Amino acid sequence: MNTHQRSLSVAIDPKKLDRLAQVAVKVGLRLQPGQDLFLTAPVVALPLVRRIAEHAYKAGAGLVTPLFSDEEITLSRYRYGSDASFDRAPGWLYDGVAKAFADNTARLAIVGDNPMLLSGEDAQKVARANKANSLAYQPALEKIAGFDINWNIVAYPGASWAKQVFAGDEEDVAVGKLAAAIFSASRVDNDDPISAWAAHNAALKTRTEWLNGQKFAALHYSGPGTDLTIGLADGHEWQGGASMAKNGIVCNPNIPTEEVFTTPHARRVDGHVSSTKPLSYQGTLIDDISVRFEEGRIVEAKASKGEAVLSKVLDTDEGARRLGEVALVPHSSPISKSGILFYNTLFDENASCHIALGQCYSKCFVGGADLTPDQIAAQGGNKSLIHIDWMIGSGKIDIDGVKPGGSRVPVFRKGEWA
Ligand code: ZN
Ligand code: ZN
Repeated sequence: MNTHQRSLSVAIDPKKLDRLAQVAVKVGLRLQPGQDLFLTAPVVALPLVRRIAEHAYKAGAGLVTPLFSDEEITLSRYRYGSDASFDRAPGWLYDGVAKAFADNTARLAIVGDNPMLLSGEDAQKVARANKANSLAYQPALEKIAGFDINWNIVAYPGASWAKQVFAGDEEDVAVGKLAAAIFSASRVDNDDPISAWAAHNAALKTRTEWLNGQKFAALHYSGPGTDLTIGLADGHEWQGGASMAKNGIVCNPNIPTEEVFTTPHARRVDGHVSSTKPLSYQGTLIDDISVRFEEGRIVEAKASKGEAVLSKVLDTDEGARRLGEVALVPHSSPISKSGILFYNTLFDENASCHIALGQCYSKCFVGGADLTPDQIAAQGGNKSLIHIDWMIGSGKIDIDGVKPGGSRVPVFRKGEWA
């Protein structure tokens, strides 16, 4: 038995893990011969990182550089780190990462730690550390948000995350269940995952092409607790599945992904809407959100749980009360059918139609790569430090597309494509 086998939980199928590594390199990143790869991962994901490095080098990668994090080390900082350290971040490291991205290095992030790790820590310290980190990471993040390079996120079934999701189960059982859910959602539980992704990308493309052809001015949502009109930004473009980064590489940034999404108009959202799943935000669970919009702005917000955190989020800046994303996901999506709350946006946002408060994506505009921030704002794109997805879809939601002249076309009926 080699070290790789020894560090892999018996509950994780090594064959499917290898396929996930292959999907990350060949579908998620489409890593090009000679291209360098920068990779971040929790130490628990080492077995996956090793498989990815092997597939990357076989695909002709230049250098593969991994950077690991560890839950125990993160907690040590909160327990024993000096107070002043919570306003600091390793800017020197992020400057190097930004330089690597400028040199066309691909980026892979593996999630696998418990998303609720910091829920018991001092919320002020968590907020300060996040802020310092966001500021230091800004030069590198701009290149990811602007889609300058091919990047991808995949998930690894870490034990602490599994125990958070399946709290009642023994560790091995919980890891086995989370592994099965990740493998199925990532389409690696069949023999030919590369073809499965090609078919899935084609299906998503059919949806985005239909929506782009309709040129809707707005979407109207109706269902229990919901009567909402979301105006779409002028010149918006629907996206979904594989898309082309500015370096010319067609990649799938999120594995898994089920959504098609675009930019709403920051000043044309009216009515009320209720959340259909809890939202986990920096260690706090916010549940039963209901909000009312007037001219794009949230003027009333309630939640049965986590309301104080929600109102703090809404006060982050002017754009935090307005929408930056609207996404359509059928109620029958595999992740929705699993019925699992993952406490992680990569999975939970793919279980349901959702909207996001805050920053919009410039790539969701026709010719978005060439638009200035002022042009994006003039066309209705929102600007904020936050981007928080929350779920508003269910099997009871109907959505109509509203044409500029006011005529309506059914888009969703009872949570499914009409
Ligand atoms: Zn989304
Ligand atoms: Zn989003």
